[in-house]
Amino acid sequence: MRQSTSSILALAVVGAVKVGAHQGCGGQEIAKRNLGMMDVGVEGLYVADGSTDAPTECAYYSYPPVTAAKSQFPTIWEIASLVPGDAEAAAVFAQVQAKVNATVGAVRMKGTPNGDFSAFTPTYNASDTDCWWTYKECQSPPSPPTSFVVLLTDSATQRPTGTTPKHPNLPADIIDLPEPRSLGIGFDDGPNCSHNAFYGFLRANEQQATMFYIGSNVMDWPLQAQDAIADGHQIAIHTWSHNYMTALTTEQAFAELWYTRKAIQLVTGVTPLSWRPPFGDIDDRIRTIAQALNLTSILWQSDSDDWRINTGTPPVTSAQIDANYQNLINGVNNGTYDKRGTIMLTHELNNFTMSEAIKWYPMLKAAFGKLVPIASAYNLTHPYAEGNISYPDFGGNSAAAVSSSTSVSASASGTGASATGTMKTSVAAGSGTAASSAGSAQPTPTAARAKSAAFKSSASTTQLMGTIVGGFAVLSWFC
Ligand SMILES: [Zn+2]
Repeated sequence: MRQSTSSILALAVVGAVKVGAHQGCGGQEIAKRNLGMMDVGVEGLYVADGSTDAPTECAYYSYPPVTAAKSQFPTIWEIASLVPGDAEAAAVFAQVQAKVNATVGAVRMKGTPNGDFSAFTPTYNASDTDCWWTYKECQSPPSPPTSFVVLLTDSATQRPTGTTPKHPNLPADIIDLPEPRSLGIGFDDGPNCSHNAFYGFLRANEQQATMFYIGSNVMDWPLQAQDAIADGHQIAIHTWSHNYMTALTTEQAFAELWYTRKAIQLVTGVTPLSWRPPFGDIDDRIRTIAQALNLTSILWQSDSDDWRINTGTPPVTSAQIDANYQNLINGVNNGTYDKRGTIMLTHELNNFTMSEAIKWYPMLKAAFGKLVPIASAYNLTHPYAEGNISYPDFGGNSAAAVSSSTSVSASASGTGASATGTMKTSVAAGSGTAASSAGSAQPTPTAARAKSAAFKSSASTTQLMGTIVGGFAVLSWFC
């Protein structure tokens, strides 16, 4: 099945509603594309695999491994904290708290969880003692106040300046790539329940990416999360409830990472070793927590602003977002990335952001040539705690062929997507085992990827679809 870009865009009707912006990170708005966990109580077939119809894809289903474990997790879409009785998490957190107290105890909590820093910044040291990325991108002098920010670089090393934490023994954030004229490709805020067309497009182009997953989305849409593994994408953590991390207590920030990692492990069998802070909101206290959990912090060098579509005053237009993509390509042509590659922030957020990614993909590929997940860009061939799962290095991944520029077809869900297929064989869902049954490599994009025999309420499908689709209009907004 081939699908035009326009028909993909037409799907944006669902979930494209918006409400008022909040501040910080530009006032980002995101539809929470779910209604939270609902125990429908009846298990049946999951029929969305193969569909690119958003209401069908987003019809709620009950997935027993998640349902059975729900009491071990914080409430979905609420700021996480330690789950009562979770002795393992409590023991690890005690160690993290001690480390925070000993090394960055003077770093204060900042602002509010929804990004209002107006009461904090007037009291903050202008020299940015906490290496607070949201403040000045940890630079001195600050970067130009533009929506499309290319960080200043050190003229000798061509490394971006200012990303080295102010406190000792903390690793720098990743914001660019070591390989010249390469582009790190990744998408935030998934898994989106209606991503079949988008993931199908990436699959058709043999393109892997880094998927920064929100824990609550993983719990709501576990089969969609498994798509990432089946397609060879790298999964990274994007917190549990998608709030501003520097505003959270140390326990909350720890829990946001801990339980998202646990959810991803539960559903996909892999335990990510990297994460991206929502809104880029990280300081040395949050870095310390992430480091204690063995998580590498990945940010970005420029922002597509795709998440800002139709928000703000005046509203951000698609033309402005297109201009940001074009500026990135211009940077290739004018030599900006001749010594180091770059990372742009893009989203698996709604059909607009996914359609933009599809539209610009051939042009980005033509300009950069090498579009790679972050793990591959850094030759991190073991991006998960499961050491027996390997991942392609830069050479292995950048060699992937790109199909023709007409490939904005979104080939639904690839092969084996019949409604009565068998369970996805590459992921032992809920068993806690590694994603690769062979134990040596992540499944390839051509791996069998049928999940149709999984778990969807068959008793009240129509009713649920109506409820969920209608629910898009009243839900909260995220970055
Ligand atoms: Zn995000």
